[in-house]
Amino acid sequence: MQAAAERRVDHPLVDSYGRQIQDLRISITDRCNFRCQYCMPAEGLPWLPSEKVLTDEEIVRLARIFVHHGITEIRLTGGEPTVRPSLPNIIRQLSALREEGLESLSITTNGVLLDKLAGKLADAGLTRINVSLDTLVREKFHRVTRRDCLDRVLKGLATLENYPSIRPIKVNAVAMKNFTEEEILSFAELARSKPYVVRFIEFMPLDADGNWRREQVLTGREIFDVMNRWKPLLPIETRASSTSRRYRFVDGLGEIGFINPVSEPFCSTCNRVRLTADGQIRTCLFSIDEWNLAGPLRAGASDAQISEIMQHSVSHKELKHKINEGPAFQRASRSMSQIGG
Ligand code: SAM
Ligand code: SF4
Repeated sequence: MQAAAERRVDHPLVDSYGRQIQDLRISITDRCNFRCQYCMPAEGLPWLPSEKVLTDEEIVRLARIFVHHGITEIRLTGGEPTVRPSLPNIIRQLSALREEGLESLSITTNGVLLDKLAGKLADAGLTRINVSLDTLVREKFHRVTRRDCLDRVLKGLATLENYPSIRPIKVNAVAMKNFTEEEILSFAELARSKPYVVRFIEFMPLDADGNWRREQVLTGREIFDVMNRWKPLLPIETRASSTSRRYRFVDGLGEIGFINPVSEPFCSTCNRVRLTADGQIRTCLFSIDEWNLAGPLRAGASDAQISEIMQHSVSHKELKHKINEGPAFQRASRSMSQIGG
Protein backbone atom coordinates (compact mmCIF):
# COMPACT_ATOMS: atom_id res chain seq x y z
CA MET A 1 0.00 0.00 0.00
CA GLN A 2 1.29 3.50 -0.79
CA ALA A 3 1.49 5.82 2.21
CA ALA A 4 -0.83 8.79 1.77
CA ALA A 5 2.00 11.29 2.16
CA GLU A 6 4.08 9.67 -0.58
CA ARG A 7 1.24 9.33 -2.99
CA ARG A 8 0.94 11.86 -5.77
CA VAL A 9 -2.62 12.54 -6.87
CA ASP A 10 -2.66 14.44 -10.13
CA HIS A 11 -6.17 15.80 -9.87
CA PRO A 12 -7.45 15.75 -6.30
CA LEU A 13 -11.16 16.39 -5.91
CA VAL A 14 -11.28 19.76 -4.19
CA ASP A 15 -14.56 21.60 -3.82
CA SER A 16 -15.15 25.33 -4.14
CA TYR A 17 -14.67 25.77 -0.37
CA GLY A 18 -11.26 24.06 -0.38
CA ARG A 19 -12.39 20.71 1.05
CA GLN A 20 -10.55 17.76 -0.48
CA ILE A 21 -12.79 14.76 -1.04
CA GLN A 22 -11.21 11.54 0.22
CA ASP A 23 -14.15 9.51 1.45
CA LEU A 24 -16.57 7.73 -0.89
CA ARG A 25 -19.75 5.94 0.20
CA ILE A 26 -21.03 3.52 -2.41
CA SER A 27 -24.56 2.16 -2.18
CA ILE A 28 -24.61 -1.27 -3.79
CA THR A 29 -28.36 -1.82 -3.43
CA ASP A 30 -31.41 0.16 -2.36
CA ARG A 31 -33.09 -3.02 -1.07
CA CYS A 32 -33.20 -4.10 2.54
CA ASN A 33 -34.35 -7.00 4.70
CA PHE A 34 -35.28 -4.64 7.60
CA ARG A 35 -37.84 -1.85 7.72
CA CYS A 36 -36.45 0.51 10.35
CA GLN A 37 -39.12 3.01 11.41
CA TYR A 38 -36.78 6.01 10.98
CA CYS A 39 -35.69 4.92 7.50
CA MET A 40 -38.31 3.01 5.52
CA PRO A 41 -42.06 2.36 5.51
CA ALA A 42 -43.30 -1.09 6.57
CA GLU A 43 -44.14 -2.05 2.98
CA GLY A 44 -40.68 -1.07 1.70
CA LEU A 45 -40.05 1.42 -1.09
CA PRO A 46 -40.37 1.14 -4.86
CA TRP A 47 -37.06 -0.66 -5.53
CA LEU A 48 -34.84 0.25 -8.43
CA PRO A 49 -35.28 -2.11 -11.39
CA SER A 50 -32.25 -4.42 -11.39
CA GLU A 51 -31.03 -3.19 -14.77
CA LYS A 52 -30.62 0.30 -13.30
CA VAL A 53 -28.36 -0.90 -10.48
CA LEU A 54 -24.65 -0.64 -11.26
CA THR A 55 -22.99 -3.99 -11.96
CA ASP A 56 -19.95 -5.17 -10.00
CA GLU A 57 -17.71 -4.17 -12.91
CA GLU A 58 -19.24 -0.70 -13.14
CA ILE A 59 -18.85 -0.12 -9.41
CA VAL A 60 -15.21 -1.19 -9.50
CA ARG A 61 -14.42 0.93 -12.54
CA LEU A 62 -15.92 4.06 -10.98
CA ALA A 63 -14.23 3.34 -7.64
CA ARG A 64 -10.86 3.02 -9.38
CA ILE A 65 -11.30 6.41 -11.06
CA PHE A 66 -12.30 7.94 -7.73
CA VAL A 67 -9.20 6.42 -6.09
CA HIS A 68 -7.03 7.94 -8.82
CA HIS A 69 -8.54 11.28 -7.76
CA GLY A 70 -7.38 10.82 -4.19
CA ILE A 71 -10.18 8.87 -2.52
CA THR A 72 -8.57 6.91 0.33
CA GLU A 73 -11.66 5.52 2.08
CA ILE A 74 -14.51 3.55 0.56
CA ARG A 75 -17.50 2.36 2.51
CA LEU A 76 -20.10 0.07 0.95
CA THR A 77 -23.62 0.62 2.13
CA GLY A 78 -27.21 0.57 0.95
CA GLY A 79 -30.06 -0.35 1.55
CA GLU A 80 -28.53 -3.42 3.10
CA PRO A 81 -25.27 -4.32 1.33
CA THR A 82 -25.27 -7.92 2.57
CA VAL A 83 -28.42 -8.74 0.59
CA ARG A 84 -26.42 -8.35 -2.63
CA PRO A 85 -25.02 -11.84 -3.28
CA SER A 86 -21.95 -10.47 -5.03
CA LEU A 87 -20.82 -8.41 -2.01
CA PRO A 88 -17.71 -10.60 -1.40
CA ASN A 89 -16.80 -10.31 -5.07
CA ILE A 90 -17.11 -6.51 -4.97
CA ILE A 91 -14.99 -6.37 -1.81
CA ARG A 92 -12.34 -8.63 -3.35
CA GLN A 93 -12.03 -6.39 -6.40
CA LEU A 94 -12.07 -3.13 -4.44
CA SER A 95 -9.47 -4.57 -2.10
CA ALA A 96 -7.04 -4.65 -5.02
CA LEU A 97 -7.30 -0.84 -5.17
CA ARG A 98 -5.05 -0.73 -2.09
CA GLU A 99 -2.21 -0.99 -4.59
CA GLU A 100 -3.47 2.23 -6.15
CA GLY A 101 -3.96 4.30 -2.99
CA LEU A 102 -7.08 3.02 -1.21
CA GLU A 103 -6.41 2.86 2.52
CA SER A 104 -9.69 1.83 4.08
CA LEU A 105 -12.48 -0.45 2.85
CA SER A 106 -15.52 -0.92 5.06
CA ILE A 107 -19.22 -1.73 5.02
CA THR A 108 -22.21 -0.50 6.98
CA THR A 109 -24.69 -3.27 7.70
CA ASN A 110 -27.67 -4.10 9.89
CA GLY A 111 -25.67 -7.19 10.85
CA VAL A 112 -28.43 -9.76 10.48
CA LEU A 113 -26.53 -11.88 7.93
CA LEU A 114 -23.09 -11.53 9.50
CA ASP A 115 -23.19 -14.84 11.36
CA LYS A 116 -23.13 -16.49 7.91
CA LEU A 117 -21.10 -13.91 5.98
CA ALA A 118 -18.33 -12.62 8.27
CA GLY A 119 -15.80 -15.27 7.17
CA LYS A 120 -16.46 -14.65 3.48
CA LEU A 121 -16.11 -10.90 3.93
CA ALA A 122 -12.84 -11.30 5.83
CA ASP A 123 -11.49 -13.64 3.13
CA ALA A 124 -12.48 -11.11 0.47
CA GLY A 125 -10.38 -8.42 2.18
CA LEU A 126 -12.83 -6.41 4.29
CA THR A 127 -10.92 -4.61 7.06
CA ARG A 128 -13.47 -2.44 8.84
CA ILE A 129 -17.16 -2.68 9.64
CA ASN A 130 -20.05 -0.63 11.05
CA VAL A 131 -22.97 -2.58 12.47
CA SER A 132 -26.18 -0.67 13.14
CA LEU A 133 -27.84 -1.54 16.45
CA ASP A 134 -30.25 0.91 18.04
CA THR A 135 -31.34 -1.06 21.09
CA LEU A 136 -30.25 -4.03 23.18
CA VAL A 137 -33.83 -4.90 24.15
CA ARG A 138 -35.50 -7.54 22.00
CA GLU A 139 -39.01 -6.07 22.03
CA LYS A 140 -37.73 -2.59 21.16
CA PHE A 141 -35.52 -4.01 18.43
CA HIS A 142 -38.54 -5.76 16.92
CA ARG A 143 -40.55 -2.54 17.09
CA VAL A 144 -37.92 -0.28 15.55
CA THR A 145 -36.70 -2.59 12.78
CA ARG A 146 -40.03 -4.39 12.31
CA ARG A 147 -38.01 -7.63 12.50
CA ASP A 148 -37.55 -9.88 15.56
CA CYS A 149 -33.84 -10.35 14.93
CA LEU A 150 -31.85 -8.95 17.87
CA ASP A 151 -30.33 -12.34 18.73
CA ARG A 152 -29.18 -12.84 15.16
CA VAL A 153 -27.46 -9.42 15.05
CA LEU A 154 -25.73 -10.11 18.39
CA LYS A 155 -24.62 -13.47 16.99
CA GLY A 156 -23.26 -11.64 13.94
CA LEU A 157 -21.26 -9.30 16.16
CA ALA A 158 -19.90 -12.24 18.15
CA THR A 159 -18.93 -13.98 14.90
CA LEU A 160 -16.99 -10.89 13.80
CA GLU A 161 -14.81 -11.19 16.91
CA ASN A 162 -13.39 -14.39 15.34
CA TYR A 163 -12.01 -12.38 12.42
CA PRO A 164 -9.29 -10.03 13.72
CA SER A 165 -8.58 -8.71 10.21
CA ILE A 166 -11.90 -6.82 10.46
CA ARG A 167 -11.23 -4.08 12.99
CA PRO A 168 -12.45 -1.88 14.50
CA ILE A 169 -15.96 -3.21 14.96
CA LYS A 170 -18.14 -0.12 15.16
CA VAL A 171 -21.67 -0.32 16.54
CA ASN A 172 -23.89 2.58 15.45
CA ALA A 173 -27.09 3.51 17.28
CA VAL A 174 -29.51 6.15 16.02
CA ALA A 175 -30.34 8.19 19.12
CA MET A 176 -33.98 9.13 19.54
CA LYS A 177 -35.92 10.79 22.35
CA ASN A 178 -38.13 8.49 24.41
CA PHE A 179 -36.31 5.51 22.99
CA THR A 180 -32.58 5.65 23.69
CA GLU A 181 -32.34 7.36 27.11
CA GLU A 182 -33.06 4.26 29.20
CA GLU A 183 -30.29 2.32 27.41
CA ILE A 184 -27.47 4.84 27.59
CA LEU A 185 -25.70 2.95 30.36
CA SER A 186 -26.33 -0.44 28.70
CA PHE A 187 -24.52 0.85 25.61
CA ALA A 188 -21.77 2.24 27.83
CA GLU A 189 -21.42 -1.19 29.43
CA LEU A 190 -21.24 -2.77 25.94
CA ALA A 191 -18.34 -0.45 25.04
CA ARG A 192 -16.57 -1.27 28.30
CA SER A 193 -16.97 -5.02 28.17
CA LYS A 194 -16.42 -5.54 24.41
CA PRO A 195 -13.79 -4.14 22.07
CA TYR A 196 -16.46 -2.25 20.13
CA VAL A 197 -16.57 1.41 19.16
CA VAL A 198 -20.14 2.28 20.14
CA ARG A 199 -21.36 5.45 18.41
CA PHE A 200 -24.56 7.42 18.76
CA ILE A 201 -25.89 9.16 15.64
CA GLU A 202 -28.46 11.91 15.90
CA PHE A 203 -31.72 11.19 14.12
CA MET A 204 -31.82 13.16 10.85
CA PRO A 205 -34.68 14.21 8.54
CA LEU A 206 -33.95 11.44 6.06
CA ASP A 207 -36.83 9.09 6.88
CA ALA A 208 -38.91 8.05 3.88
CA ASP A 209 -42.15 8.80 5.75
CA GLY A 210 -41.18 12.43 6.36
CA ASN A 211 -42.14 12.12 10.04
CA TRP A 212 -38.89 13.55 11.50
CA ARG A 213 -39.40 16.21 14.12
CA ARG A 214 -36.67 18.15 15.90
CA GLU A 215 -38.14 17.18 19.29
CA GLN A 216 -37.29 13.55 18.52
CA VAL A 217 -33.55 14.26 18.30
CA LEU A 218 -31.66 13.09 21.36
CA THR A 219 -28.42 15.04 21.11
CA GLY A 220 -24.96 13.62 21.61
CA ARG A 221 -24.44 16.16 24.39
CA GLU A 222 -27.41 14.79 26.35
CA ILE A 223 -26.08 11.24 26.09
CA PHE A 224 -22.53 12.35 26.91
CA ASP A 225 -23.72 14.05 30.10
CA VAL A 226 -25.52 10.97 31.38
CA MET A 227 -22.60 8.66 30.61
CA ASN A 228 -19.96 11.01 31.92
CA ARG A 229 -21.80 11.35 35.22
CA TRP A 230 -21.75 7.57 35.53
CA LYS A 231 -18.06 7.13 34.62
CA PRO A 232 -15.76 9.85 33.27
CA LEU A 233 -15.29 9.77 29.51
CA LEU A 234 -11.72 10.49 28.41
CA PRO A 235 -11.39 12.24 25.03
CA ILE A 236 -9.47 10.61 22.17
CA GLU A 237 -7.90 12.81 19.50
CA THR A 238 -9.46 12.55 16.05
CA ARG A 239 -8.66 13.75 12.56
CA ALA A 240 -10.22 17.06 11.55
CA SER A 241 -12.44 15.30 8.98
CA SER A 242 -13.73 12.78 11.52
CA THR A 243 -17.49 12.96 11.92
CA SER A 244 -17.38 11.65 15.46
CA ARG A 245 -16.14 12.85 18.83
CA ARG A 246 -14.48 9.86 20.47
CA TYR A 247 -13.99 8.90 24.11
CA ARG A 248 -12.85 5.95 26.18
CA PHE A 249 -13.36 4.76 29.71
CA VAL A 250 -10.35 4.39 31.94
CA ASP A 251 -11.15 0.68 32.37
CA GLY A 252 -12.97 -0.21 29.13
CA LEU A 253 -12.07 -2.36 26.12
CA GLY A 254 -13.92 -0.28 23.56
CA GLU A 255 -14.79 3.34 22.84
CA ILE A 256 -17.77 5.67 22.75
CA GLY A 257 -18.38 8.07 19.86
CA PHE A 258 -20.89 10.80 19.11
CA ILE A 259 -21.96 11.80 15.61
CA ASN A 260 -23.94 15.02 15.99
CA PRO A 261 -24.95 16.23 12.52
CA VAL A 262 -28.02 18.09 13.83
CA SER A 263 -26.75 19.75 17.01
CA GLU A 264 -23.10 20.23 15.98
CA PRO A 265 -22.86 20.08 12.16
CA PHE A 266 -19.44 19.09 10.83
CA CYS A 267 -20.04 20.29 7.25
CA SER A 268 -16.97 22.55 7.22
CA THR A 269 -14.68 19.52 7.33
CA CYS A 270 -16.86 17.16 5.31
CA ASN A 271 -14.70 15.21 2.85
CA ARG A 272 -17.37 12.82 1.54
CA VAL A 273 -19.33 12.14 -1.60
CA ARG A 274 -21.78 9.37 -2.28
CA LEU A 275 -22.49 7.14 -5.25
CA THR A 276 -26.04 5.79 -5.33
CA ALA A 277 -26.89 2.24 -6.41
CA ASP A 278 -28.10 3.64 -9.75
CA GLY A 279 -24.88 5.51 -10.38
CA GLN A 280 -25.63 9.09 -9.32
CA ILE A 281 -23.11 11.21 -7.43
CA ARG A 282 -24.50 13.01 -4.38
CA THR A 283 -22.25 15.58 -2.78
CA CYS A 284 -24.27 15.93 0.44
CA LEU A 285 -26.74 13.66 2.29
CA PHE A 286 -29.21 16.51 1.89
CA SER A 287 -28.57 17.19 -1.79
CA ILE A 288 -31.47 18.14 -4.01
CA ASP A 289 -29.40 17.62 -7.18
CA GLU A 290 -27.41 14.62 -8.38
CA TRP A 291 -24.79 14.08 -11.04
CA ASN A 292 -25.41 11.25 -13.43
CA LEU A 293 -22.46 8.91 -13.89
CA ALA A 294 -24.40 5.82 -14.93
CA GLY A 295 -25.67 7.37 -18.17
CA PRO A 296 -22.28 8.41 -19.58
CA LEU A 297 -20.67 5.23 -18.21
CA ARG A 298 -23.13 3.05 -20.11
CA ALA A 299 -22.88 5.24 -23.20
CA GLY A 300 -19.18 4.40 -23.42
CA ALA A 301 -17.57 7.41 -21.72
CA SER A 302 -13.80 7.29 -21.34
CA ASP A 303 -12.12 7.48 -17.92
CA ALA A 304 -11.22 11.09 -18.69
CA GLN A 305 -14.85 11.96 -19.39
CA ILE A 306 -15.98 10.24 -16.16
CA SER A 307 -13.26 12.13 -14.29
CA GLU A 308 -14.59 15.38 -15.61
CA ILE A 309 -18.08 14.66 -14.25
CA MET A 310 -16.60 13.74 -10.87
CA GLN A 311 -14.66 17.00 -10.72
CA HIS A 312 -17.61 19.03 -11.90
CA SER A 313 -19.91 17.49 -9.26
CA VAL A 314 -17.40 18.12 -6.47
CA SER A 315 -17.02 21.75 -7.52
CA HIS A 316 -20.74 22.08 -6.75
CA LYS A 317 -20.59 20.44 -3.32
CA GLU A 318 -22.92 22.20 -0.90
CA LEU A 319 -21.37 24.42 1.78
CA LYS A 320 -23.53 22.89 4.52
CA HIS A 321 -26.85 21.30 5.30
CA LYS A 322 -29.72 23.52 6.33
CA ILE A 323 -31.44 21.39 8.96
CA ASN A 324 -31.09 24.22 11.45
CA GLU A 325 -32.21 27.01 9.15
CA GLY A 326 -35.95 26.81 9.66
CA PRO A 327 -38.01 27.31 6.50
CA ALA A 328 -34.83 27.29 4.33
CA PHE A 329 -34.53 23.58 5.01
CA GLN A 330 -35.63 21.50 2.08
CA ARG A 331 -35.74 17.73 2.53
CA ALA A 332 -33.27 15.67 0.50
CA SER A 333 -34.45 14.35 -2.86
CA ARG A 334 -34.18 10.73 -1.61
CA SER A 335 -34.46 9.02 1.77
CA MET A 336 -31.54 7.44 3.64
CA SER A 337 -31.80 3.91 2.25
CA GLN A 338 -32.04 5.22 -1.32
CA ILE A 339 -29.01 7.46 -0.87
CA GLY A 340 -26.70 5.07 0.93
CA GLY A 341 -26.14 6.31 4.46
N1 SAM B 1 -28.73 -1.10 6.08
C1 SAM B 1 -27.47 -0.72 6.59
C2 SAM B 1 -27.55 -0.35 8.04
O1 SAM B 1 -28.66 -0.12 8.55
O2 SAM B 1 -26.51 -0.26 8.67
C3 SAM B 1 -26.80 0.37 5.80
C4 SAM B 1 -27.66 1.49 5.29
S1 SAM B 1 -28.40 2.49 6.53
C5 SAM B 1 -29.32 3.62 5.55
C6 SAM B 1 -26.99 3.39 7.10
C7 SAM B 1 -27.12 4.04 8.44
O3 SAM B 1 -28.05 5.09 8.37
C8 SAM B 1 -27.59 3.12 9.56
O4 SAM B 1 -26.69 3.20 10.64
C9 SAM B 1 -28.92 3.70 9.94
O5 SAM B 1 -29.19 3.51 11.30
C10 SAM B 1 -28.73 5.15 9.59
N2 SAM B 1 -29.98 5.89 9.39
C11 SAM B 1 -31.04 5.53 8.61
N3 SAM B 1 -31.99 6.48 8.67
C12 SAM B 1 -31.52 7.47 9.49
C13 SAM B 1 -32.04 8.72 9.94
N4 SAM B 1 -33.23 9.16 9.55
N5 SAM B 1 -31.27 9.46 10.77
C14 SAM B 1 -30.05 9.01 11.17
N6 SAM B 1 -29.50 7.85 10.77
C15 SAM B 1 -30.25 7.08 9.95
FE1 SF4 C 1 -32.55 -1.13 6.14
FE2 SF4 C 1 -30.45 0.14 7.17
FE3 SF4 C 1 -32.71 1.49 6.51
FE4 SF4 C 1 -32.76 -0.16 8.58
S1 SF4 C 1 -31.48 1.69 8.38
S2 SF4 C 1 -34.31 -0.05 6.93
S3 SF4 C 1 -31.39 -1.76 7.95
S4 SF4 C 1 -31.35 0.46 5.11
